[in-house]
Amino acid sequence: MLIIGAGPSGLYAAYYAGFRGFSVAVVDALPEPGGQITAMYPEKDIFDVAGFPTVKGRALVDGLLEQANQFKPAYFLGEQAVALSDDASGVTVTTDAGTTIRAKAIVITSGIGSFKPRPIPIGEEWVGRGVVYFVPQLAEHTDKDVVIIGGGDSAFDWAWALQPIARSVTLVHRRDQFRAHASMVDKVRDAGVRLITSAEISDARGADGITEIDVTYKADGSVESLPANTVVAALGFIANIGPLADWGLQLEKRRLLVDTTMRTNHERVYAAGDITTYPGKVPLISVGFGEAATAVNNAAPLVDPSHGVFPGHSSGESAG
Ligand SMILES: Cc1cc2nc3c(=O)[nH]c(=O)nc-3n(C[C@H](O)[C@H](O)[C@H](O)COP(=O)(O)OP(=O)(O)OC[C@H]3O[C@@H](n4cnc5c(N)ncnc54)[C@H](O)[C@@H]3O)c2cc1C
Repeated sequence: MLIIGAGPSGLYAAYYAGFRGFSVAVVDALPEPGGQITAMYPEKDIFDVAGFPTVKGRALVDGLLEQANQFKPAYFLGEQAVALSDDASGVTVTTDAGTTIRAKAIVITSGIGSFKPRPIPIGEEWVGRGVVYFVPQLAEHTDKDVVIIGGGDSAFDWAWALQPIARSVTLVHRRDQFRAHASMVDKVRDAGVRLITSAEISDARGADGITEIDVTYKADGSVESLPANTVVAALGFIANIGPLADWGLQLEKRRLLVDTTMRTNHERVYAAGDITTYPGKVPLISVGFGEAATAVNNAAPLVDPSHGVFPGHSSGESAG
């Protein structure tokens, strides 16, 4: 079985396919497994994964890898799946590195596809000189003056994570309302983070790295200068689902339409996680896990007709 995408849904699908006794290959365009978690928030606390009241992104990915690796999947990392062809007995996927992988069934867990951060108002010249899009290592910002741009959940997550270690944290949002959870906004405000609304970052200064930024208030055009060694641009991402848009699979709003078995309109192509859509879809890690189990188990009879859909219980107990 081939899994396209090594995010949380793909890694759990790899575990499940191994547990069902299949040989498994996992392809990901990124050089490291973990999908959005590894790329964007490895050090963030995640609160809504079943069984973990709190888990850091990196720890969750490590656990998923350990679980999947029991069955020794073959990883093809740093390779984007670009083409799909099929015949009566299976499907063939080709990567941009020229690798061809033949499988009886595939599970597409390609999430939001490739993603690149939305550009910041002060231009790209400061990226790497104080401006960051992700915070892979919180400790790098110890005792720094941090300015976070954005008003959504990520902006507040970073503010919350950085406020205990940074010298100061200021959040600047161009609107007067935040999109983040109200409870998180209150928590961050109560922790002493300064929240500036209806204002935009308009300039930055510094030699090797940023030392100061200007914030321009929309109401009267006045400008305030703030000390800043780190500017976290949490303005969201422009996502692109990439080549699989041309694979003849039924799409709705750039997501793969699946039925209740997580099957696409191709009989050997299943999907799970953020890439899927159906009425009532909620794009969360926990939902992706359930969908991955549903997809792999429903695809199981295609890989080996002696397999049923239900896997039995992993604890080995039998109902009789
Ligand atoms: C800042 C932030 C915070 C979040 N916090 C939470 C949270 O607290 N709780 C929660 O439940 N969810 C959270 N989410 C959402 C969560 O990260 C996603 O729901 C989850 O990552 C989806 O997992 P996935 O495996 O379906 O897809 P992804 O994590 O997107 O992984 C997909 C993988 O597929 C690869 N890929 C795509 N196309 C191809 C291709 N053609 N060939 C090869 N590889 C390909 C990508 O490189 C990627 O590695 C958050 C998201 C962000 C951005």
